[in-house]
Amino acid sequence: MRVFNTLSGRKEEFKPLEEGKVKMYVCGPTVYNLIHIGNARPMIVFDTVRRYMEYKGYEVNFVSNFTDVDDKIIKAALEEGVDASVISERYIEECKKDMKGMNVREATFHPKATEEIDGMIEMIKTLIDKDYAYVGEDKTVYFRTRRFKDYGKLSHKNIDDLRGGNRSLLVSGEDQKDDPLDFVLWKPKKEGEPYWESPWCDGRPGWHIECSVMSRKYLGESIDIHAGGEDLVFPHHENEIAQSEACNGKEFARYWLHNAFLNIDNKKMSKSLGNFFTVRDISEKYDLSVLRFFMLSAHYRMPLNFSRELMDAAKNSLDRISKGVSNLKYLIENSDHEDMDKEEEEKLLKARKFTEEFEEAMDDDFNTADAITAVFNNVKFVNINCLATNSRSYLNENLSQLLKLCDILGLKVEKDEELLDSKIEDMIEERTLARKNKDFKRADEIRDELLSKGIVLEDTREGVKWHRA
Ligand code: AMP
Ligand code: ZN
Repeated sequence: MRVFNTLSGRKEEFKPLEEGKVKMYVCGPTVYNLIHIGNARPMIVFDTVRRYMEYKGYEVNFVSNFTDVDDKIIKAALEEGVDASVISERYIEECKKDMKGMNVREATFHPKATEEIDGMIEMIKTLIDKDYAYVGEDKTVYFRTRRFKDYGKLSHKNIDDLRGGNRSLLVSGEDQKDDPLDFVLWKPKKEGEPYWESPWCDGRPGWHIECSVMSRKYLGESIDIHAGGEDLVFPHHENEIAQSEACNGKEFARYWLHNAFLNIDNKKMSKSLGNFFTVRDISEKYDLSVLRFFMLSAHYRMPLNFSRELMDAAKNSLDRISKGVSNLKYLIENSDHEDMDKEEEEKLLKARKFTEEFEEAMDDDFNTADAITAVFNNVKFVNINCLATNSRSYLNENLSQLLKLCDILGLKVEKDEELLDSKIEDMIEERTLARKNKDFKRADEIRDELLSKGIVLEDTREGVKWHRA
């Protein structure tokens, strides 16, 4: 498996630190609003990387944070007149709903910055002890960037070029720094803002320190993969490397993976430009698996332009795969014998090449665009080679290969089984009986189960009525 490493600027053979295991950290969203589909790109891409790694037999420990203390959260809280935690908790829940809709699996750990403050204070203390950090006049703590000799190695920037550039960008308080390149680790509280006690002053952490701390706590000092959108390469990831390597004296992450932007009219989609659609907006018009398909239809390091036309094309493509799957299921239900004949055995061997094509694409830096082509070739094959057969095992083997490939990409291609009317009537009867027997727990369970399948019950004077949601 070859992956493009931003650190070396080339594709490299993937070798984990520990045989059979992958430690992976993906920088997560700042939770002050519903996530937009630009934020969704790294979620979908790196969830797919995780799924593929697991398919290859690795045990993947996947950590992704929620940044739940930040200027934008504090601003939103002030506007609504609530505590910052009300805003962050609300949008963490909303983000999780969106992730579920996009079939992005929950991380092994989803740490929140506000719950890791002690670890941040510890790391900052160590950096001060090692003279990699210092306390300014107003008690802000800064990282001493120049002392970290490898600074710039990820973004391939020369530290002296940065110095000139940053000088022209001086903001208030910067004159307290020893060097314009130094960045904040801890800053003093401001009126009305959340704060924590620390050895330096009541205040809150800078943004970069949280990832260094959470990555170490949940994955260890050195990890295999650190990932995020390409806007994070500099300064966020560069600063994370500086903090972690200065503190731990070890390589922080071996492979750095970055997705390109999701654009709209060829400009980065972002909250600040106001040119965004939230995942929730999209979910009103499309099933979110269409969004997932759309994201994976391009290689993750290529910019991707959002348009209705491309989304409609993604919907049609996904429908074609779903159709292939449901045809196969229909054929299986109506098949009349188990075993395959010689000809079917040979065809099945040919069909195996789609898994090979798929793996070849994914082994080449997760080329999901080519992997999707392999899935289509598989669907085409199924449409041509399965109609005239009645062998259950042959059909089942074809179905399981197709479903396996779709599952690695996280594409949902199986229509939820529709509950038959008769089954619904039976369940309603059981619920009525349970209520008669005062077993309200069971009655509620049945109502919830039906609801989860899109069946809504109404208790009326004439008895229970139901409809599909
Ligand atoms: P943020 O909440 O801005 O820190 O972003 C969370 C993640 O979304 C980061 O990995 C960003 O790099 C990524 N991201 C934000 N906007 C876009 C975009 N338009 N295209 C791709 N990734 C993005
Ligand atoms: Zn980060």
